[in-house]
Amino acid sequence: MTNTSNTTSDAVTAASAAFEAEFGRAADGVWSAPGRVNLIGEHTDYNEGFVLPFAIDRRTWAALGLRQDARARVTSTFSPEHVEIELRDVSPESLDSWSAYPLGIAWALGENGVDLDSKPGFDVHIHSDVPVGAGLSSSAAIECAVAVALDDSWQLGLDRPTLAKVGQLAENKAVGAPTGIMDQSASLLGRRDSAVFLDCRTLRSDVIDLGFAAADLQIVVIDTKVSHSHATGGYAARRASCEAGAAALGVESLRDVAVDDLDRARGLMDDETFRRVRHVVTENARVLATVRALRESGPLAIGELLDESHVSMRDDFEISVPELDLAVVTAREAGAIGARMTGGGFGGAAIALTPSHLVGAVTARVTDAFAAAGFTAPEVFVVTPSDGAKREL
Ligand code: ADP
Ligand code: MG
Repeated sequence: MTNTSNTTSDAVTAASAAFEAEFGRAADGVWSAPGRVNLIGEHTDYNEGFVLPFAIDRRTWAALGLRQDARARVTSTFSPEHVEIELRDVSPESLDSWSAYPLGIAWALGENGVDLDSKPGFDVHIHSDVPVGAGLSSSAAIECAVAVALDDSWQLGLDRPTLAKVGQLAENKAVGAPTGIMDQSASLLGRRDSAVFLDCRTLRSDVIDLGFAAADLQIVVIDTKVSHSHATGGYAARRASCEAGAAALGVESLRDVAVDDLDRARGLMDDETFRRVRHVVTENARVLATVRALRESGPLAIGELLDESHVSMRDDFEISVPELDLAVVTAREAGAIGARMTGGGFGGAAIALTPSHLVGAVTARVTDAFAAAGFTAPEVFVVTPSDGAKREL
């Protein structure tokens, strides 16, 4: 396994060295924010429900230096493109490509009452080891790294829940992806060996002890390499189905629907919409059951809930793909105690809660099964629940 502390300090050094090479001066500081894995609670966030993500030991680093003028310049190891713009011109209309994520944060801070005209411009260089488009939220990692960097550098003193909303606004409006608040909350509020239990209606959050270390459990991520896009296609369609289901039931959001209401719901909508609704309603119940199990019995008790979550996403919400289903089934056969796809779906990654001594077996079995099925080789790696966004230098 990688040594996280060495990797982290190497990345900080790399980010500040790259900043110097790009901009010809030292950065004022380096900030970082992690990607996330959602343990359970999928497509519940925009239905004002419950989610239980954790921050992972894959991070994005933002080296930032303020400028004398009001320009903003961004570079990233992700792309050779350099983007430069006057701070006052930053808007959803003026932003495109990957720079909409970091620069969208500046715009969203403005929307949250920060007077951008009074703030100095900045140069920022982005460095990351969060895989892009794998369902681990590289997007929230870049947003949150830049959000904490600007919050500190501009001395805004905004609290983490506010920064999470800023990140979401940037992603919704500057990028144009209609995602919820989960990813930014995990990236900003996460803690070592813990998950963030988030009520997406009240935005109240609780840090929940996972106890993976004591139980000698690991989360194995199986990145299927099947890419997805949240800005288009299925994600928006699922969201629309949820809104249609809530409207048919006469409630503000599916958060207001209990498992016991499902029988009645069946008669009020078409079958497809009903199955979308049933996923969200039962998934909310599974998140609550997972939190209860972690508190009362520990992590060995949550395997079945992870399995049920996957079945619901596969059959009711229909957001899985054959690669994800194979990853889940094979990981379970190889000894994982529970497994599910994670993230928005249509590709991306699955997770398998695995006893440490079986990580090698799960990795080998899944890799072999993908080869036998003729699928692209997956990337299989362990993630460790880690601390949220912070200043590194
Ligand atoms: P995910 O969040 O699951 O990784 P998204 O499609 O939501 O996938 O976000 C990926 C996009 O975020 C990338 O295509 C790119 O535009 C942007 N992005 C992520 N990480 C970086 C980075 N290190 N540098 C520049 N842009 C990034
Ligand atoms: Mg994303």
